[in-house]
Amino acid sequence: MSKMFLDPKQPLHTCKQKSCTDCQVPGAITCHFSLKQLLHFLSIGLPPFIVGFLGLHHGLYEWKVLAIWLGIIIAFFGFIEIRVMCSHCPHYAEPSLKNLKCWANYGAPKIWKYRPGPMSKIETIVFVTCMAIVFLYPSPFLFLAKQWSFFVIHLLTVISFFATLRSCLCNQCINFACTFNAVPEKERDKFFKENPTVAKAWGKK
Ligand code: SF4
Ligand code: SF4
Repeated sequence: MSKMFLDPKQPLHTCKQKSCTDCQVPGAITCHFSLKQLLHFLSIGLPPFIVGFLGLHHGLYEWKVLAIWLGIIIAFFGFIEIRVMCSHCPHYAEPSLKNLKCWANYGAPKIWKYRPGPMSKIETIVFVTCMAIVFLYPSPFLFLAKQWSFFVIHLLTVISFFATLRSCLCNQCINFACTFNAVPEKERDKFFKENPTVAKAWGKK
């Protein structure tokens, strides 16, 4: 049986080091992921969807409204996000992986080729627009159905998700291409130094 996560002592495929043991990068940037990180992400990422589905169900919307949202969620996290954002990530570059084993898109298939370097403008627009649709889909329905408690709680879970994501995960995320990435330049340079092919794709020496 394959392991649930990459070996934290084993350098990434993009990395030139022979071992991660004495590396200065972990702590500032997450090269390897763990169950604790995955559970942390799920604990902040699932509430907007749970509250949204409960609200739509409670608002007596037809099953079609729920089914369309489910379809959008699967299409985004399973195909679109992987193409426009994850395919730029050094984790995505791991040749041993058929599915992602990271904190945010665990299990998503690697159906696109790895494309190191920044996201294009079109990719950024698609990414941000789709994120807004995926997370805010229930809002107009809950508003029209006058489901005020669900409407407010859902918005609060979305705000809390993005605030926690940005302050706890984006500031140490390995994918510098992502629109939300908040790793300081100094820390990025440390990673670039160890990962020359990634550095080259970003136009760094
Ligand atoms: S930069 Fe390389 S050596 Fe350092 S933790 Fe990441 S994969 Fe391991
Ligand atoms: S960008 Fe984030 S979600 Fe996508 S593969 Fe990299 S770590 Fe995982």
